[in-house]
Amino acid sequence: MTVAIIKSNDPRDVREAVRLLGGMERFVAEEDRVVLKPNICLGKPNSTGVVTNPEVVAEVARMVQEVGGKPVVGESPIYPLKSRSVFPRAGYCDFHDRYGFEIVHFDQEEGVHIQVPEGKRLNHQFIAKRVLQSDKLINLPIAKTHGLTTVSLGLKNIKGVVPGKQKQIVHLAGIDEGIVDLNTAIRSDLTIIDGIIGLEGEFGPPATGQTVNLGVILAADNVVEADSTMARIMGIDPKDILHIQLAADRGLGSLNGIEIRGEPVERVARSFRHYHMPGLLKKFFSDGITRFTTVFQNLNSRIRGTDLIRLRLKLGEMEVTAERCDNCRICLRACPVDAISLNGDVKINRQTCIRCFICAEVCPREVFSRR
Ligand code: SF4
Ligand code: SF4
Repeated sequence: MTVAIIKSNDPRDVREAVRLLGGMERFVAEEDRVVLKPNICLGKPNSTGVVTNPEVVAEVARMVQEVGGKPVVGESPIYPLKSRSVFPRAGYCDFHDRYGFEIVHFDQEEGVHIQVPEGKRLNHQFIAKRVLQSDKLINLPIAKTHGLTTVSLGLKNIKGVVPGKQKQIVHLAGIDEGIVDLNTAIRSDLTIIDGIIGLEGEFGPPATGQTVNLGVILAADNVVEADSTMARIMGIDPKDILHIQLAADRGLGSLNGIEIRGEPVERVARSFRHYHMPGLLKKFFSDGITRFTTVFQNLNSRIRGTDLIRLRLKLGEMEVTAERCDNCRICLRACPVDAISLNGDVKINRQTCIRCFICAEVCPREVFSRR
């Protein structure tokens, strides 16, 4: 129930945030195998606000080592992107040479199917073996908004322990409940949010976001409390963020009674522009493809004309700027419901599309956007 907030632009000040929580020795014991999980979802440098600052990650790895732990850094980027091409462009290619810590490509290593006993939508999931073999997990997201989940912080960052294509199952299950299910199986022992440079935007970073020089590092012993506090700093009520509220409802953390150490929220807060999807519609979209298809088809057969147009305006339509396309075909493999065709032109099947916005995240030429 404790969150530490530091106002700083210096990655080394992550030490102070962890010290305020009681020091790394509170979280890591001697000989512990510790996985550090930054957000390296795309091949963009930290200066874009898309990926966690490698200097923050390295400083945390040093702290783990100082208390006798054995740190490794690992991630699986957005499918179908490969870590071997994403890591170099995100500033992690020479992580081992520069800092002396191993970096693991979860999408290229072995994974294991596990049961998710507390899962509501996911009853099993494929997880990187290294994560399952570790004693501790330190969750290291960056502070950014997201077009579908409002924010992408610690709870959502856990999706990166799922290798490659298996991530799509989380979307198909219903992104918000799917994220919470994953977090019931893979617990974060310590969450540190890199808010030195953040990212804001309505449609959804990382496609079209703008950087925010927030200058904040936040550390917490509970991932829900880390996320809800960072959401408040970003000017967003955590109760309006479905996956955070669901996680609190399921007892993974609390939205109230959090003890803040260091800077008060009000002193570091700065409103992030974000897309706000009304609660009911968000729930509707979080209900997974099977239910979604049924519900949407029912709705589609019952509401026509202006009502349907109004509904679509609220949800946002995917817009395609086809002339930018260079036919790289990444989006074809990324779309979890095969809604994209590239026969001479980029087209989306709007009946099948579940507005997951993965195509917009992975397309290197910004062909997809929300209108
Ligand atoms: S739309 Fe984007 S991801 Fe898809 S083929 Fe064209 S450039 Fe590649
Ligand atoms: S076309 Fe629709 S379903 Fe497919 S990736 Fe894009 S937003 Fe998701």
